[in-house]
Amino acid sequence: MGDWLEQLDWRAYREEAVELLAELLRIDTSNPPGRETEAARYLAKVFKREGLKGELLEAAPGRGSFLLRLSGRGSGPKLMLLSHTDVVPVADPSRWDHPPFSGALADGYIWGRGALDMKCQTITEALTVLLFKRLGLQFSGELVYLAVADEERGAKYGAAWLKEHHPERLKVDYVLNEGGGEALQVGGKTFYSIETVEKGLFWLKVKVKGRSGHGSVPHDENALVKAAGLIDRLAHHKFPKRIDETVQEFLTKVLGALGPGGEQLGRALLDPQREVDLGPFLAGTEFALEAINAFIRTTVSPTMIQAGVKENVIPDSCEFVLDCRLLPGSAREELLEKLAELGAELGLKFETEVLQYHPASGSPLGTDLYRAIERALRAELPGTEPVPLILTGATDSRFLRELGALAYGLCPLSTKITLHNRLMMVHGDNERIDPESLELQVRVFTRVAAELLQARTR
Ligand SMILES: [Zn+2]
Repeated sequence: MGDWLEQLDWRAYREEAVELLAELLRIDTSNPPGRETEAARYLAKVFKREGLKGELLEAAPGRGSFLLRLSGRGSGPKLMLLSHTDVVPVADPSRWDHPPFSGALADGYIWGRGALDMKCQTITEALTVLLFKRLGLQFSGELVYLAVADEERGAKYGAAWLKEHHPERLKVDYVLNEGGGEALQVGGKTFYSIETVEKGLFWLKVKVKGRSGHGSVPHDENALVKAAGLIDRLAHHKFPKRIDETVQEFLTKVLGALGPGGEQLGRALLDPQREVDLGPFLAGTEFALEAINAFIRTTVSPTMIQAGVKENVIPDSCEFVLDCRLLPGSAREELLEKLAELGAELGLKFETEVLQYHPASGSPLGTDLYRAIERALRAELPGTEPVPLILTGATDSRFLRELGALAYGLCPLSTKITLHNRLMMVHGDNERIDPESLELQVRVFTRVAAELLQARTR
């Protein structure tokens, strides 16, 4: 397969990727309000120029997703190249060196909101499909291209709507989406992450009851004080470790790069009975060590609180919100039981209200797509090592996983964009991408798709 891939004019593909992305970045799809249909129409035009016809699927006026299928000759797996076309709003355009919807080409980058998250991938996945078409590759199965609306605000007008109203169109075996792909430098080694698991989300409001009274005469039934005790206990509670294969491989490989000390730390972290102080080990690596705790257990962050009406009135109720993130295999009930247990210990009366919930999702290591991704990364990025990653947040992959697909997150970036830079730019100021990353993505996605669909030149 490598032969025909290397014979392509990559300089031309890189330039084409830059041009197509710049145009897409000029379409303002800030969500809210989204207006993704304009982006979908633009993609339709790009494909139509080459004789490929897709489908506009609108959940509501202006909230369009774009779907296109390229069918092979024989039967085989269906691979979906998934992306979202909406972007998060820009907080303050004056803080940007180049306007956020300019698609400016300057200082070796293409600038614009969505350059990384994730219009780059919308374009490089489109180019992967176009490359299949242009080369007249013979393949089995189907290549499905889907660019959805409304990822950044819960998918009601995007993937969730499609899953509900057009599940048959989403029926695929494999999905390649955002979620991984950044270069992670640890102990002199470079790792490229492949997202395999996403934690579940559980937002819970807790209302603690108390008794009112005059602020000048304190008593033990102050709802604010009671809530404070519960919040403190919850925030410091360590839920049991639950280590799946992704976390096991991630910690073993990444911490292994730190030498014997790192290996020892890895073993301690993987031991369900041991708690370790991470501090002394990871100083100096760019990897955020708080994240490791979130990889190995369900977590709770108290995020909002409300009590009291007046300076001198003891509040008879206090409401607070918990942002809980669940590992695969952790049920909501585990959290509610812990809450009830701590509440009982403190002698509290409270009620709960579920604000939002979706379970964790994941796909196993070692599947055909996972292996194809590993091989593509190793081929294009010699000397680096692929590593599976758990996301503490969520992407649209969960909807496809719920429909039975194996989904992985991969948006590879060149080493010009470090993990730290990426975290600063995604949803932040001066979002931009280098042309090298765009070429890398087309190369990797093409390798993955060609291997999985057994593509050959005629
Ligand atoms: Zn995104």
